[in-house]
Order: sequence, then C-alpha cells, then structure tokens
Amino acid sequence: MTKVNTSYETIIVGGGVIGNSIAFHLSERDQEGILVIDKNFPLSGTSGSTQAWVWVHNKTPASYAEFSMYSAELYPYLSRKIGDVEYKRTGGLSPFFTEKDLEKAHKLAQKYSELGIKIKVLNKEEVLAKEPSLSPDVVGATFSKVDGNINPFRLVDLLIRASKKQGVAYSYYNRVLDIERTENAFIVHTQKETYLCKKLILAGGAWSKELGSYLGIHVPVKQVRGQIMVTEPLAPLLNYTISGMRQAINGEVLIGYSMEEVGFDRRGTLDVIQETANMAIRYVPSLANANVVRCFSGIRAMPKDGYPIIGHVPGVQNLYVAAMHSGITLAPLIGTLMTELILDGETSIPIDDYSITRFQEPVGQL
Ligand SMILES: Cc1cc2nc3c(=O)[nH]c(=O)nc-3n(C[C@H](O)[C@H](O)[C@H](O)COP(=O)(O)OP(=O)(O)OC[C@H]3O[C@@H](n4cnc5c(N)ncnc54)[C@H](O)[C@@H]3O)c2cc1C
Repeated sequence: MTKVNTSYETIIVGGGVIGNSIAFHLSERDQEGILVIDKNFPLSGTSGSTQAWVWVHNKTPASYAEFSMYSAELYPYLSRKIGDVEYKRTGGLSPFFTEKDLEKAHKLAQKYSELGIKIKVLNKEEVLAKEPSLSPDVVGATFSKVDGNINPFRLVDLLIRASKKQGVAYSYYNRVLDIERTENAFIVHTQKETYLCKKLILAGGAWSKELGSYLGIHVPVKQVRGQIMVTEPLAPLLNYTISGMRQAINGEVLIGYSMEEVGFDRRGTLDVIQETANMAIRYVPSLANANVVRCFSGIRAMPKDGYPIIGHVPGVQNLYVAAMHSGITLAPLIGTLMTELILDGETSIPIDDYSITRFQEPVGQL
C-alpha cells in the first residue's frame, strides 16, 4: 500500500502565473489546505520568459477578445490586492504596412464593436501622431485602449507572497512523477514525498500533456518556442504596447514574437534573432542604433486549437485543468473563474467554450 506523507484539500501542480493565480484566488476565499508543487522554481517555466503584454485586440474570434478584456479589466484590482505588478494600460497599437491590411482592420473593428470592444482604425497620420518613432512607411494601425503590459516577475512573486500570507504551502524542486486516483482522492507521487489530496489542479503549462498522461487524460498542448531580443535601457521611445514590442519601465525594449515548433528546445538561433532585428527596424527605424544586451527564449503552451483549456475534466471528479497561451493576459480571470468553479460549482462568465471536451477525444478514463 502507498505510504502517504501529507494530505491536502487541494494540490496545484505548476507554480507559474496560472497555478499561482488560482492559489491566490482560492485562498482569498478562505480555502485551506492548498499546496502548490513545482519541479523547479516558480518562474522557471514560461511565466519567466514572456513578453508579458496584457493584450486584447487582434484576438479572434471577438468572443475570445472579450474574454481577454475581462481579464485585463481585473488587473488594477489584482494590483491593489497583491501589490504593484507594474501594470501599465498603455493602449495597444497594431501597425500595418499594406492597403490590404487596412480592409482587414475595418472588418475586425466592426466585429469587435458588436461585442462592445472599442478598437479604432487609425490612418498613417493618426498613427504617427500617437507613436512618432514608428516608420513613416506605416499605412495605419488598429488601436485599443485596453491593451498594456505588466512585469511578470513581480506578478508571480507578489502572487506567491500573498498566497503564502493566506496559508498556501509551496514545494519547489519537487517533480510530480505520477498521479493515482482512488475512489474520492488523488495520490500525488513526487520526488520528495507522496501526497494525498481531494482536489487536483493541473497547471503545468507546456508540460500539461505529460501531467494529464499520469491520469490517462489527453491534454492536447504542444510546445511553441518564442525568441525575444532585449535592448539596453533607452530613453522613452514607445508610448504604446506595439504588437511586436514593448518598452519596459526601466527603458529596455523587448522585441519579438517568433513561433517555432521545436519541442522543449530553448536555445536561441541566429536566424530568428536576425529576423526579429529586421522587424524591429522596419517598425521603429531608430532601433537600428540600439545595443542589444540579451536574448532569451520561452516555450509557449499552445493548445491544439490555440484557445485556453480550462475547467473541470469530465469523468474524473475533482480534477481540473488550466493550460493556455496568453496566460499573462488571462491570469487574473482564470484564477477568479477556476475559484468560482471549484468553490461554487459555476462561473460568473461562461467557460464552456474552453472545456477540454471540445477536442472530442476520450478525456477521462476512470
Ligand atoms: C516568447 C513568449 C512570449 C509571450 N508573450 C506573452 C504575452 O505577451 N502575453 C501573454 O499573455 N502571454 C504571453 N506568453 C505566454 C505566457 O507567458 C504563458 O501563457 C504563461 O506564462 C503560462 O503560465 P503557466 O503558469 O501556465 O505556465 P508556466 O509558467 O510554464 O508554469 C508551469 C509550471 O509547471 C511546472 N511543472 C511542469 N511539470 C511539472 C511536474 N511534473 N511536476 C511539478 N511541476 C511541474 C513547471 O516547472 C512550471 O513552472 C508568451 C510566451 C512566450 C514563450
């Protein structure tokens, strides 16, 4: 018989922004007995290697943009509760360089307006008046007031500090090796100990597939690498978060949005960095004079259809999953909704579209 060391009400596997947002919101509602387990340290996954835009506009369908907007709206409140996450609602600009894109932009704006999301289509003069450092080759841009960015390091750190104050326990450098299901509990085997818990939340990001497999659950998440280039701190250059780059509070400009399906390989490559530099100069010509101080890459957790996988796993009582790209944008909302689902049995905003059941694959085998 398995020797269990410690029992918890809820175990969250994954100490990135998603696992920690859930831990924070659950413990805020006085839920006791929560343990967050991570095989490394909290920012070792994707949450520590991200652009960290809080980004709403350009997302399709418009209902997904609406979902993201609700999360963006929660950031000021989250900041007030946990501390300053350097959330800046800069507004977001998505520049384009061809007349064809102008048509697309008008169509997008129309679809969004039906859901009450305001995006403006700006002409060249309007774009350059807002963001004078952009190239004069720009044809126009879509603009949304609700976009912005945050400091992901502060966000995760402050979520952890607040969660700990609310009684959440943490175990780092402790890989989950296997998970067993008994009639009404889970036995979580880790490198350090074996735990028992009533509720289990899989928040393993890019590793979600592996975690699901321990329970015979298929979580269709693939890995997509992204490489980012960082400049030296520059004098204020960008007024807005631009799709492709943002200027952090310390003046560094973070540039890039590559998408490469190379598994868990986090190496940087010269070709992608070169393309990223070319894109930067095309958008903002003065960046040609900036020094690059570092490059980093991260692995996106990309669900098969690109949309979040959140909620209860049907067929397995008390098992929940939360895996997604755009986890920085969505973290406050996911923490809130997962808490409602777990404690109240329903959510204030529907999440059915994001259920794992949409993949029509056998999910629960128990
Ligand atoms: C280059 C790049 C740019 C991005 N830009 C943006 C952006 O601008 N805006 C935005 O919203 N999103 C962006 N994202 C995505 C966003 O960063 C992620 O969606 C988010 O960080 C995911 O958080 P997470 O908590 O789900 O995953 P993670 O931060 O990866 O956390 C998962 C944790 O699970 C742990 N874990 C996994 N398996 C086990 C196991 N067996 N045992 C114990 N622990 C385990 C891992 O160690 C990890 O710490 C970007 C991503 C990349 C790579």
